[in-house]
Amino acid sequence: MERQRIIITGAVQGVGFRPTVFRLAEHLGLTGWIRNDTAGVVMELQGTGQAIERLLARLQTDDKPRLASIITCRQQPVPVACGEKAFSILASDASGDPRVQVTPDTAVCEACLTEMRDARDFRHAYPFINCTHCGPRYSIVTSVPYDRPNTTMSVFAMCETCQQQYDNPADRRFHAQPVACPRCGPVCWLTDAQGRTLEADPGRSITQAAEALKHGKIVAIKGVGGFHLAVDACQEGAVARLRERKHRDHKPFALMASSVAVIKRHCEVDADAEVVLASAQSPIVLLPKKAVKVLGPDLASGVAPGVNTLGWMLCYAPLHWMLFDQGPDVLVMTSGNVSNEPLICDNDLAVSRLGEIADLFVMHNREIHRQVDDSIVHMINRNPVLLRRSRGYMPAPVYLKQANTSAILAAGSDLKNTFCFVKQDQLLCSEHIGDLADAGVYRHFVQSVDHLKGLFDVDPVVVACDLHPGYYSTQYAQQLKQVRMIQVQHHWAHVASCLAEHQVDGPVIGLVADGTGYGVDGAVWGCECLIASLDSFQRFGHLEYFSLPGGDKAAREPWRPGLSLLTQAFGPDLEGLDGLLEQRVGDTEAWDVVRQQLGRGLNCVDTSSLGRVFDAVAWLLGLGSTNHFDAQLPMALESVVDVSVAGAYELGFDTLDEVVLWDVIPVIRDLVTDIQAGCEVPVMAAKFHWAWIEGFVAMAEIAQIRTGLDTVVLSGGVFCNRILLTRTIKALTQLGFDVLWNQSFPANDGGIALGQAAIAAKKVTL
Ligand SMILES: [Zn+2]
Ligand SMILES: [Zn+2]
Ligand SMILES: [Zn+2]
Repeated sequence: MERQRIIITGAVQGVGFRPTVFRLAEHLGLTGWIRNDTAGVVMELQGTGQAIERLLARLQTDDKPRLASIITCRQQPVPVACGEKAFSILASDASGDPRVQVTPDTAVCEACLTEMRDARDFRHAYPFINCTHCGPRYSIVTSVPYDRPNTTMSVFAMCETCQQQYDNPADRRFHAQPVACPRCGPVCWLTDAQGRTLEADPGRSITQAAEALKHGKIVAIKGVGGFHLAVDACQEGAVARLRERKHRDHKPFALMASSVAVIKRHCEVDADAEVVLASAQSPIVLLPKKAVKVLGPDLASGVAPGVNTLGWMLCYAPLHWMLFDQGPDVLVMTSGNVSNEPLICDNDLAVSRLGEIADLFVMHNREIHRQVDDSIVHMINRNPVLLRRSRGYMPAPVYLKQANTSAILAAGSDLKNTFCFVKQDQLLCSEHIGDLADAGVYRHFVQSVDHLKGLFDVDPVVVACDLHPGYYSTQYAQQLKQVRMIQVQHHWAHVASCLAEHQVDGPVIGLVADGTGYGVDGAVWGCECLIASLDSFQRFGHLEYFSLPGGDKAAREPWRPGLSLLTQAFGPDLEGLDGLLEQRVGDTEAWDVVRQQLGRGLNCVDTSSLGRVFDAVAWLLGLGSTNHFDAQLPMALESVVDVSVAGAYELGFDTLDEVVLWDVIPVIRDLVTDIQAGCEVPVMAAKFHWAWIEGFVAMAEIAQIRTGLDTVVLSGGVFCNRILLTRTIKALTQLGFDVLWNQSFPANDGGIALGQAAIAAKKVTL
């Protein structure tokens, strides 16, 4: 007989950990107790050493609650308590500063799905079934501590059965805050485009929605983090109508299916991707389109034009499963918003904003307090890499190596904004907020900062932000009273985001391939080699500047950087390019104006942006003349690459000065020669990609020789390019470099806040 005290940290609260231990202890004949405390979970187990060991082993493997993850487990013997007869769950010890207890929203679990489909179960066909292993969390929390009165479930009084399950430590629904049933919980109903109820019965509402979808109607469906706009993905007309009404001309639509088998008819799904699709986080996974079609209905061509991947998710809310049991095989499930506005989660707002888009609404009365978009990942070296971090991943923290004394807010970037708090040793990032240039998104940003301040119980005395004086996020930081402001260069923040998530301090060789970021010299930086740590950075190398005419228009109109690069490569008269330009130049008047601007250096800024170079090359290859959405043309360029091509274009290098320069002009000359020789686009696209991989490797080697460092960090929006990232990792690894890249946070500007936060945290602890 022995007694052990065990302290466990990690995601162990609100995930069914205590009932699991309770059941295991009873089963193994152990006595003792368990309780939550501010650091995690503490328990004392008494019985034979063998039984205690078995319990701990099973907690790590077979019986681990679905949403729990154990970071540390410390164990020490304590005196045996005589006369103890049973195992009990004690009240939480709430003294001290509580850590974040809210967990992410997660996909419905197998056990709940089984009950939902069991005609004998009292939650049969109930679209809001959930338990401690699944269901909404973050999106329904109004304040902390995470208890039912502090969620949007507070308006539903539990019936006797639900209450019994909620109170019973041996039940799967013990302290599951959103627990509900058809008798006492939320309901759904169907309305027309004006919000008038067409069908009040939940089951029949879903059946009618499924029928409408089969008839090509657009249905707005309220889910976990907000509304989706859904149509049958196989109906060309329905998809086209959705695009037209949503004013979303080109951006690929996300898709939902109820099984991996359906997805496999359209895309390559390997075992690793399958695991991610079916995970509790249930993100959208970008998957390569199948080269050879499998029998079955085709997806409408308007789903994702111009890209070679499709974004898929599996049903994750019980309501989705009920819909798919009766509806089409594949649905477009795009965010319920108008163009770049915030995702809509409120019933009335949905009718007023989406009434002209949707024919019908599936409404429900479980209020969504936090709108949370679907997360997006792609697979890199067999692992999921986040491109947008939202539902399912929020609000899990990143840990700093050292505890920090000051509370910090990092305001992030203006594009793909997220923000981040530092509290003690935790970096607490917000979910994807959006592009702050939209007034609605900016308001949402300000409100979200306030909401999460309360939820995380943090009161920042330091604010970190970008160097860009024109950023809304910078201006927001500037007007905050009584806080110390720390401005962080954009690409340094990109490198730091990767250091933070891998818990590395640096220095490292940071290769940043990016669109735009404000440089310390006032130029627009973008393709950078920084020798960087969390303390400081030095600009070791960069892409030689070229002129970017037309300011903000340059990101949308690729011919602007294109003309600039051509002028540098062939002189102001663009000698010998008449034939090519005749095909590529659309608006000749605008073209002439920009030529004059370039000649006189008017309305131009110096840039080292790699994003603009990718834009320009895509345009030169005839892949399009406008970026209708961020990175449309670079994505098109990546999509056409013929991976079997061996040769690469060769970048120039200037290594004479202290700062090493990549020179892209020789590549532009060779590319134009190839275009004029009638070379195939997939071949040229490949040779252009390979040029950069060789360029990154060469730069890393020079940096290694000059600094002795051999860890390379890859970050920046251009590294969301899967071919570029995977092949650069491979090439560097083969040369013996340690390579780090963003995984849990986006390499694009969605990761900037994390980087700013990590740098500021280091600064204030120094
Ligand atoms: Zn469940
Ligand atoms: Zn009930
Ligand atoms: Zn960036």
